[in-house]
Amino acid sequence: MASTPLHSSGLPPPHRIAIVGAGLAGLSLTLLLSRVRSQQQPLHITILELRPRHAQDGGFLALAPNALHILDQLGLYQKLLPQGFAYEDIAFYSARNLSRIGRVKNGDVKRYGYPALRIGRGIVRGELLRAVEELATQDREEITVEMRFETKVVSVSEKEKNVILGLASGEELTFDAVIGADGIHSRVRNLVNGDVKPTFSGMLGIGGGRLDRRDIRPQDLSLPAMFMGKSNAFMMMPTSADGNEVTFFATMEVEERDREGWAKLGEDKQELKRIMVDRHCGRASEWPAVVVEACRSGKADSLSIWPHYNAPILESWTSSSNRIILMGDAAHAMPPTGGQGAAMAFEDAASLAMVFERSDTAEAFDKGVDEWQTTRQDRARKIKEFTTKSGDMRRTSPSVFQQIVKEWIMWLYFKVKGSDGGLAWVYEHKEKCPGDVKVKV
Ligand SMILES: Cc1cc2nc3c(=O)[nH]c(=O)nc-3n(C[C@H](O)[C@H](O)[C@H](O)COP(=O)(O)OP(=O)(O)OC[C@H]3O[C@@H](n4cnc5c(N)ncnc54)[C@H](O)[C@@H]3O)c2cc1C
Repeated sequence: MASTPLHSSGLPPPHRIAIVGAGLAGLSLTLLLSRVRSQQQPLHITILELRPRHAQDGGFLALAPNALHILDQLGLYQKLLPQGFAYEDIAFYSARNLSRIGRVKNGDVKRYGYPALRIGRGIVRGELLRAVEELATQDREEITVEMRFETKVVSVSEKEKNVILGLASGEELTFDAVIGADGIHSRVRNLVNGDVKPTFSGMLGIGGGRLDRRDIRPQDLSLPAMFMGKSNAFMMMPTSADGNEVTFFATMEVEERDREGWAKLGEDKQELKRIMVDRHCGRASEWPAVVVEACRSGKADSLSIWPHYNAPILESWTSSSNRIILMGDAAHAMPPTGGQGAAMAFEDAASLAMVFERSDTAEAFDKGVDEWQTTRQDRARKIKEFTTKSGDMRRTSPSVFQQIVKEWIMWLYFKVKGSDGGLAWVYEHKEKCPGDVKVKV
């Protein structure tokens, strides 16, 4: 007997679709939906974005092979590659004596088809945005795309056959379905699941610095490198294709602030520099000279912050009619310590677009969405577990003895797990995309 979908509207697959949020999830979903060929009616996509067109995303992403595979399917990998730093291994050093604890692969061209790519978040979003804008200008039978910036969604409600979005301007818009891709502080999520508050993990990332590789000593230091200190972890990573521009970031335990407090701290570049110098350059510094020098010479104006917030992996990513669907950080924001937030957004987008590709009836769509949710939740939970563990390794060790024990545990872990660090299941995952193309890597 065929299984009955958990959620159902009994309506044909949606065609007038609003995507709330022009972040990595919303933009990649739009591009992936443009490759769907099985729908009987054209898709009309409206993207609603809070920020202005030219708003810049700060900070850097490490895109793992599972993310690069999807960007490759979208024809963007080759464009992004020369704008970032491609690498395979991260070396882990003890901050006490610069001894090598181990190394782990973040990418592997031979094994996974891709390296890992360190690249500005703004560059990735910029390329996705340009591709969507190009799509919006094309005269295509199967899809139309409209983008509205500086458009804040403040309410969402379901009528028998429609979903109504209320905008801050007072305007109301009607769609067949709404995709909430509006990030960790998602409005759509709260309107569907009640008041879900992201919780502060206790960890703050401060990063930037823009150093010149040629000034870094020792010259033979293997980069990217993570220095495991007693009070926090400190990472140095090239960010330009030639490897000459190097940025750093430290993940440290701090007290929570409110939104204004974080915004104020983020803008106060001299204060960020002071925190980095105080933490890493004191007289009895626990840090090696390379870290001390990086903090002293790092350019203050390039520093930015990233307070790490978690949102629970929700029980349900859809409304009871399957007409409001959450994805990306809105559905499962996770600690950044595994470098998988963007990858999960892309995987959600590819697999959700496949639901459209495979469903031409009401039943097929409802069943497809249910299965999509179950499969994605399962993977998101596993990824969250590993990123949480990876974050815990960066927390303060109460004593030097405990720091040494932690280093030995890590050393043993790398020895037992081998060069892939037991993470092959994360990186070798190749989410199927509509109109999958064989790409030669
Ligand atoms: C500094 C930093 C470094 C990171 N490093 C990594 C990394 O190394 N690797 C990795 O994989 N991930 C990393 N991440 C995480 C990654 O960027 C996110 O997981 C990813 O961007 C999630 O995509 P998203 O589209 O779901 O959300 P977002 O990218 O946050 O996009 C949400 C969009 O929705 C818009 N929006 C919000 N509310 C509304 C509303 N009410 N109405 C209309 N629009 C709205 C927002 O303006 C935004 O444009 C990093 C994040 C930060 C901040």
